Amino acid sequence: SEAELEAGRRAYELDRKHVFHSWSAQEQIKPMTVIRAEGSYVWDGEGNRLLDFSSQLVNTNIGHQHPKVVAAIQEQAGKLCTIAPQFANDARSEAARLVAELTPGELDKVFFTNGGADAVEHAIRMARLHTGRYKVLSAYRSYHGGTALAVNVTGDPRRIANDYGNAGTVHFHAPFLYRSQFHAATEAEETQRALEHLETTIQLEGADRFAAIILESIPGTAGIMVPPPGYLQGVRELATKYGMMFIADEVMAGFGRSGKWFAIDHFDVVPDLLTFAKGVNSGYVPLGGVAISPEIYATFADRPYPGGLTYSGHPLACAAAVATINAMREERMVEHAADLGETVFGPGLAELAAKHSSIGEVRGVGAFWAIELVKNQQTREPMAAYGGSSPAMNELIAACKSRGLLPFANFNRIHVVPPLNISAEDARAGLAILDEALEATDRHVES
Ligand code: PLP
Repeated sequence: SEAELEAGRRAYELDRKHVFHSWSAQEQIKPMTVIRAEGSYVWDGEGNRLLDFSSQLVNTNIGHQHPKVVAAIQEQAGKLCTIAPQFANDARSEAARLVAELTPGELDKVFFTNGGADAVEHAIRMARLHTGRYKVLSAYRSYHGGTALAVNVTGDPRRIANDYGNAGTVHFHAPFLYRSQFHAATEAEETQRALEHLETTIQLEGADRFAAIILESIPGTAGIMVPPPGYLQGVRELATKYGMMFIADEVMAGFGRSGKWFAIDHFDVVPDLLTFAKGVNSGYVPLGGVAISPEIYATFADRPYPGGLTYSGHPLACAAAVATINAMREERMVEHAADLGETVFGPGLAELAAKHSSIGEVRGVGAFWAIELVKNQQTREPMAAYGGSSPAMNELIAACKSRGLLPFANFNRIHVVPPLNISAEDARAGLAILDEALEATDRHVES
């Protein structure tokens, strides 16, 4: 409506006057205004409807404005908007029960945070206090959050500007066959060599020094590299062997994104700590948390845990989580995501890869896919440098948007990460738009 458009114009004007944005050179950005969103669609400031293939920051797993979740938030707001963390509260208790039920193994105690980064901070703090050790291992090509420690375990370029050299973090190469650091030709070689590299790193950095190893079960922002068979089992064994805690970061991969409740469920591995956020309530109200093993819990049974936050287990966020998890179950969204992966995204993206000279590789599972764009399929030179963008990638993104598709882009990749409950029809429509838009990067292929 004209009123919505007018409100959108004012929102943009005030944004440019007063809002300071994440990760941005403030005068170099032109934020897209969103005036409305519903299901898998958002409407921009000009009233154009866009199919959201990004789930925002890969968090609206149930799409926008799910009526059951909106109603649950409204009901909770009418009852009790907020409560300090030291009190017991029905919304928090039930959310914790559901998370405990869904997480693997005996991760039955839940500490709630406001988002993913603070979940990572607390998981590492717990591991350090439990083991009495300091150092933390994490992968290059990873993202774990924007706060001081979380950004320093992160392996992407955003760490570098925040690295003052005292975080106690050590990085290693996780498996990534398409750009193998190990000259591997097969998944089995990649697994074996990546595990050898990890064990060597542990030994060279101090076999008895590590509190934890943190890994995204399937790395998300860094490129959706599904670990090859045996890798996460191997990591689990090394963590046990060297007395360090295995933290599975499921902030992006969790809550159905991969076609299972948690990505680690694909590998039959149980971590000591599991971090979650995003999909737990699709981001309708900020929420994250850590699921905790009985052994780590025991450390804090009679000794206070030195950490906390005013909004730990916030009622509105927890009521949204309860309603989200129940809706996901009732509407079989996780099964639907698995099915989309097998019947729409897997075959559909393979078809695009066969057709477009700028596609180096497509990979993923469930509703969690990456398209890796290259200047040359033989040399695999990325269509944008690591940590950067390029005119070709910008043209591809613009071509998607002008055709009504909102993509998730990172460096030389487009991620296909729509809501888990997107219809098969909309999923195919999005792929058809990508098919047309990819002409933009095909034109930049160098022979
Ligand atoms: N961990 C992973 C795997 C993530 O993908 C993210 C966010 O993208 C985070 C942690 C940080 O979460 P938040 O932005 O809620 O702090």
